Amino acid sequence: MLFTHSCTACHKVQLIFPSQAHAVTATPAGPELTFTCWCGAEQRHLMRDGSASRGEVELIA
Ligand SMILES: [Zn+2]
Repeated sequence: MLFTHSCTACHKVQLIFPSQAHAVTATPAGPELTFTCWCGAEQRHLMRDGSASRGEVELIA
């Protein structure tokens, strides 16, 4: 599962790989993925419709 994320630290739209993800947290808005950006900053990405299927999220968690 790949997705793009606009980093709040380096302000670049980065392509994020599953290997960068280290946590998935359930939030009222949906599953939130925590990962480390290429720049080294910890980022959070909300999994909205189309970002990932439930199965893909569980694969990471
Ligand atoms: Zn970054």
